[in-house]
Amino acid sequence: MFMHNKRLQYTVRVSEPNPALASLLLEQFGGPDGELAAAMRYFTQGLGEVDPGRKDMLLDIATEELSHLEVIGSIVAMLNKGVKAQLAEAAMEEADLYMSLTAGGNSHTQSILYGGGPALTNSSGVPWTAAYVDSRGEPTVDLRSNIAAESRAKIVYERLINITDDPGIKEGLAFLMTREIAHQKSFEKALYAIENNFPSGKLPGIEKYANLYVNTSQGDGDMTGPWNSGEQWERIDDLEKTMPIDDGDGTASVQLDKADAGVAEKLALRTRSDPKSDPTTGADLGAGPGA
Ligand code: MN
Ligand code: MN
Repeated sequence: MFMHNKRLQYTVRVSEPNPALASLLLEQFGGPDGELAAAMRYFTQGLGEVDPGRKDMLLDIATEELSHLEVIGSIVAMLNKGVKAQLAEAAMEEADLYMSLTAGGNSHTQSILYGGGPALTNSSGVPWTAAYVDSRGEPTVDLRSNIAAESRAKIVYERLINITDDPGIKEGLAFLMTREIAHQKSFEKALYAIENNFPSGKLPGIEKYANLYVNTSQGDGDMTGPWNSGEQWERIDDLEKTMPIDDGDGTASVQLDKADAGVAEKLALRTRSDPKSDPTTGADLGAGPGA
């Protein structure tokens, strides 16, 4: 069960209203790397997890992400508090109100449609979607995805910190950013606490293909590094000679039964092209200069 504590996980101190900044901060409220996406990702993984240690960790972090959602949403609400009241009470002259909504951002969507409350959208107004949650129900896959998600959240917070000089907001965002670093560490430890965590799943790779590096982009700029050369790697540069990589002829085929084969042949015959024909077409008839 969930219980709500009225205190925030981190105190929100906003110096002054700023609807345009509020819009940008929505990226971490309802965006792909935002707190709702993080909370739902770990909550659903936690419900499906059978390992008691990982289940406990996922539900702890999911619940903390909901607390972050509360913090970032509260910052947005404070930044919009003035405009929300002005809009509701229509106390300003129309032109001044219009100016305050549209000054320097796309916060008019937030203001007109959402009344200045924190909206579950990203910073461009795109509604939150469960498609942001990319779990696959396999711990070594999902933990890797969680590690990447935490590093994305970290970098988005860093960018948001760089665009505001409000010290209270900077401090709050730095706290949220730092917690994503801590979550990344937990997920990394949990991944490596699984013995044989690479490759994912149970089936081994086919040995002769597992250490190949295929140099398919050739020419000036070809480089070597630990990602394609050294003891671990067998590198293929001569593609003409080595492809297809199996002992087949590199074509695609399928066994059809007699009925299908007959119809397929009819279709090919009916639609075949005649390379010797050069018919006059509509493009020729209507051709003007430059055609
Ligand atoms: Mn978070
Ligand atoms: Mn996190």
